[in-house]
Amino acid sequence: MRYVSTRGQAPDLDFEGAMLAGLARDGGLYVPEEIPQFDAGEIAALAGLPYEEIALRVMLPFTDMEEGHLRGLVEAAYAGFEHDARAPLVQLGPDHFLLELFHGPTLAFKDFAMQLIGQLFQDAMKRRGERITIVGATSGDTGSAAIEAFRGLDNVECFILYPHGRVSEVQRRQMTTASEANVHALAVDGDFDDCQAAVKALFNDHSFRDRVGLTAVNSINWARVLAQVVYYFSSAVSLGAPARRVSFTVPTGNFGDVFAGWIAKRMGLPVDRLVVATNRNDILHRTFETGEHRKNGVSPTISPSMDIEVSSNFERALFMAYDRNGQAVARLMDELRDEGGFPISQGALEALREDYASGRASEAETAETIRAMHAATGETLCPHSAVGVKVAREHLGRGPMITLATAHPAKFPDAVEAATGARPPLPPHMADLFERPERMTRVENDLDALKKLIEERLT
Ligand SMILES: *Cc1c(COP(=O)(O)O)cnc(C)c1O
Repeated sequence: MRYVSTRGQAPDLDFEGAMLAGLARDGGLYVPEEIPQFDAGEIAALAGLPYEEIALRVMLPFTDMEEGHLRGLVEAAYAGFEHDARAPLVQLGPDHFLLELFHGPTLAFKDFAMQLIGQLFQDAMKRRGERITIVGATSGDTGSAAIEAFRGLDNVECFILYPHGRVSEVQRRQMTTASEANVHALAVDGDFDDCQAAVKALFNDHSFRDRVGLTAVNSINWARVLAQVVYYFSSAVSLGAPARRVSFTVPTGNFGDVFAGWIAKRMGLPVDRLVVATNRNDILHRTFETGEHRKNGVSPTISPSMDIEVSSNFERALFMAYDRNGQAVARLMDELRDEGGFPISQGALEALREDYASGRASEAETAETIRAMHAATGETLCPHSAVGVKVAREHLGRGPMITLATAHPAKFPDAVEAATGARPPLPPHMADLFERPERMTRVENDLDALKKLIEERLT
């Protein structure tokens, strides 16, 4: 399988090349040159299979790997999950289901992709005898998932930038309590968009990039999107797909998760709607409503992993909506950087609206949804999942709706306790998190300082 850049100027790469590159050299994101198709029989045959087997069948055609080899990596990736189903479904209402994606080692859906990426990277580095430096920006969950996946691995040095004071204490401790010397938690004086911009700037400095062997594991990495395609299939077939069409509501920030749903749909999974759910940082909801993609500032919320304004994977959706015109996408991205936004062409907007719907939840609505769901069903939602459930309920009535529960409530205990009156306990394997010693480095929001720090740590 070949991968092309959304900005049309970088060389095509194979699966491993695209995974190791992360960001393309023209600043774009890699997407598959064509999307493998599954017919109804192949989809129906997935029903009832173990998660790992579904993962293998869904991902294999996107890779250049030998089946038995990928099987071993997939099995290792999900062995540490605390639930046999990996991604179990829970019923919330007559036609509303919650897909619990928080049974991995750091209690958020990011583990699905990151645990697999850890296996894939280690495998590639072993074979190549090379060393890489991973640099990632996180609004909280990516960083902990990355550190958990890469801690102690040979030939991998892992730097995670997070916005100082803007992640929850559980998120922070999951990043700062890893004792392995190859992981570095960096607290940046800025917000998540500053962290993400710094990572992008590091990648665009080609000499730095080559010198340190820079690799991205942020949601821009194609392998992460691919790993997330799997649970759209596993959940849909357990509710009767391909005979029944299902919809999904996805709490969204960087658009990686919901874009994985779009890939599943294009592979042949009968998906009715992909509903993009945002908190009050609603650039994506406004985009679908108005046809104008325009920044207007980020403010902190109780769902911090969605406090994002530059939604990097939205570029992939634009590339598809603009009929894979990399030049057009490059122009839009320049406009976003220079003028803070851009209008979407009529044709592209119609294409987007065919697949995606959207909605927004205020802080009060999010809290009220946590309270009401707890009272009505006994299910405790994290604030991100609650944003999803609130928006999903506005889109019911067209067949089964699956809302993605993206994190465990215990990752955001203050918001959950404020809504329900009960503090959600950490699962047993994490019960001592608050006793473990922390280790982190404060850094100013300055690119040169950051480069210097990374190079010092590598020597
Ligand atoms: C990362 C994250 C999101 C947003 O996912 P994207 O793929 O960035 O859209 C939502 N909820 C939680 C808990 C997350 O960690």
